[in-house]
Amino acid sequence: MQLLSHYRDSLPPGSPLRSAYAPPAAADAAYLPAVGVALLGVVGLVSGVILAGLAAVVAGLGWGALIRKRADQAGMARAEWDSALICLACTGRF
Ligand SMILES: [Zn+2]
Repeated sequence: MQLLSHYRDSLPPGSPLRSAYAPPAAADAAYLPAVGVALLGVVGLVSGVILAGLAAVVAGLGWGALIRKRADQAGMARAEWDSALICLACTGRF
């Protein structure tokens, strides 16, 4: 048994196993566009475009929550990978 991350580091650079045991991709946690949409909605609300403003605020907040959820899930997948063990006899993962 060995830590999967250590095992992967010990593989030769050209080994196809390196991609097979690669860590899960990090989620793109770019909140700026979502915040921009929400702020646009606030500007709309303030300037009297109530319905469109409200829709934009809700959309921006929902989008932000979705980004947050994806980032959380990616973080959990990464933590799982970090602590994953690989059996050197049968390559089973635990
Ligand atoms: Zn085994």
